[in-house]
Amino acid sequence: MAITGTVVIATNRCKGCELCVHACPQHVLHLVSDYNARGYHPVVLDESENHCTGCSICAVVCPDVVFTVYRQASHKHARAA
Ligand code: SF4
Ligand code: SF4
Repeated sequence: MAITGTVVIATNRCKGCELCVHACPQHVLHLVSDYNARGYHPVVLDESENHCTGCSICAVVCPDVVFTVYRQASHKHARAA
């Protein structure tokens, strides 16, 4: 079973505290040099290698409810003869 995930980031809610950056086990979050509407460097997801598993750790540690997490599992069904 393969598990893939992604996150939608509410960029303007982010205050650039980096809690999620350090908590993500896949190391796919980082801050960008641009500023958001609050004047902070917001976090983005690096989707280049699809390493996000949708584990939701980022959403749990973020104090500003920035993340919406999506997770998908693909199954191969084996039938017994
Ligand atoms: S859901 Fe998990 S793997 Fe994906 S960005 Fe958040 S902490 Fe990282
Ligand atoms: S934990 Fe939340 S507020 Fe802090 S950098 Fe990550 S998304 Fe932004």
